[in-house]
Amino acid sequence: MQQYEVIVVGAGPAGYVCAIRCAQLGFKVACIDKRVNAKGKAMLGGTCLNVGCIPSKALLDSTHHFQFLNHEAKTHGLKISGLEADVPAMQKRKNRVVQTLVGGIASLLKKSGVDVFAGTAGFMDSNRIRVEHADGTSRELQGKFIVIASGSVPVAIPVAQVDGDHIIDSTGALELRDVPERLGIIGAGAIGLEMGSVWSRLGSRVVVLEALPDFLPTADQAVSSEAFKILTQQGLDLRMNCRVQGAQVKDGAVHVEYAMDGDKHLVEVDKLVVAVGRGPDTEGLHLDDLEIKTDQRGFIEVDSRWETSVKGIHAIGDVTGGAMLAHKGSEEGVALAELLAGQAGHVNYETIPWVIYTWPEIAWVGKTESQCKESGIEYRTGVFPFMALGRARAMGDAKGLFKIIGDAGTDRILGVHIIGPNASELISEAVVAMESELYTEDLARTVHAHPSLAEGMHEAALALDGRAIHI
Ligand code: FAD
Ligand code: NAD
Repeated sequence: MQQYEVIVVGAGPAGYVCAIRCAQLGFKVACIDKRVNAKGKAMLGGTCLNVGCIPSKALLDSTHHFQFLNHEAKTHGLKISGLEADVPAMQKRKNRVVQTLVGGIASLLKKSGVDVFAGTAGFMDSNRIRVEHADGTSRELQGKFIVIASGSVPVAIPVAQVDGDHIIDSTGALELRDVPERLGIIGAGAIGLEMGSVWSRLGSRVVVLEALPDFLPTADQAVSSEAFKILTQQGLDLRMNCRVQGAQVKDGAVHVEYAMDGDKHLVEVDKLVVAVGRGPDTEGLHLDDLEIKTDQRGFIEVDSRWETSVKGIHAIGDVTGGAMLAHKGSEEGVALAELLAGQAGHVNYETIPWVIYTWPEIAWVGKTESQCKESGIEYRTGVFPFMALGRARAMGDAKGLFKIIGDAGTDRILGVHIIGPNASELISEAVVAMESELYTEDLARTVHAHPSLAEGMHEAALALDGRAIHI
């Protein structure tokens, strides 16, 4: 039996980052992942790299270029003829991006001295793991600490069962080789909106059926209503308050029945994507044998040091629930490694940025205005539109707004909400400011380069006091 100080189950952004940080701190580390290619080689990087963040962004970027060339280039004086979207080539490029990065993670783990095993891990007892390889062989590893970073899988709903052909999940939506004429999506969350944007830009008529009455309820209302307006203008048919009752494949099409406002409706689509959230992937780990506690939905319960109900076994990332974001999992991985090494690992959950990669992008950090109201916090807001920014106008991309919420008493930044071009990059300034416990006045007094989109942050901070210059 091979002996390790730390065994990490799962090589997603939580697991592989934890493994590397543990190795940097001097531990002897093993990292196991069950995702393998046809040759039985580990496909490292987890959901994020293989079927999540990266492939979706590759397709979003390709289709964003297509959208620009097709619809906006002419406003820049660019005449384009013969433009065509070659979807198989787009998919090939996406796969190359993924392959390159998977190889990169293998090199990083090797360089760090982490032993990687391709296979499915299951607990034998609280410090022994059996790894079942694809070729039917197995091996046993013993570890002082075991970290579960086994991630998540799409949630299934009985009314629309994924068949991998007409009814698909996010992985299927990333792999389509033809543009469906009519695309249905259940769930107006991050996946629904990102995948809806990809295929709508390529020409699909996209209808999104969302159960909740409010659109993007976790975002600030100023941003979610602006997003609803812009995405609808782009052609996404966003139907709220829908209860999907059934989805049948008939004559090559999916007939989706749903109830909305007390009435029954039917929509016919060529493909239906089910994107209603993700649940923990704990299959085959034998958690029950060890009495590792999970919540009602099966997410592993951990304490403030990411330790499960069993001493020496920790869990991080999507499998513990909360925000299902790659960067949140990675930060937990680093913090846990540092705690195991006796250092002071910590994650500030108040400053985790959220981004939805539609165009314009949607990004936020901290509290929304409704959350401030609910908590009885006295606050002030400063709003500034992209259309008043010279750089946004020069780019020809001036939809959206910045909104900063500051504490009325202390002036501390409580939340920053952006919808606009490059919001995913712009939000980092707000994250650093909040992490550093800055005041809105600090943003107002900081020099921002001209012309730049970041000037919107400066102006929104000035707007808190009614002293924005360009509005
Ligand atoms: P995962 O990435 O799921 O990795 C877990 C790994 O554990 C997997 O590789 C799995 O094979 C392995 N595993 C599971 N069980 C075992 C076992 N028994 N033995 C061995 N190995 C096992 N997040 C963002 O922050 N930004 C985005 O833009 C973004 N886009 C996304 C787009 C899509 C389409 C999807 C589906 C998700 C997206 N996410 C995004 C979410 C992000 O992918 C997850 O939050 C992140 O991957 C979670 O990391 P993790 O390491 O906890 O788990
Ligand atoms: P989500 O939780 O973001 O959205 C799911 C949506 O489906 C919700 O709006 C929910 O109300 C709705 N819904 C649930 N059941 C329904 C039903 N029966 N009928 C109609 N609507 C229903 O989940 P997702 O979009 O599937 O994404 C999964 C996870 O992956 C999320 O936690 C997200 O954080 C992560 N992700 C992140 C990004 C990003 O950071 N850019 C991108 C994609 C996915």
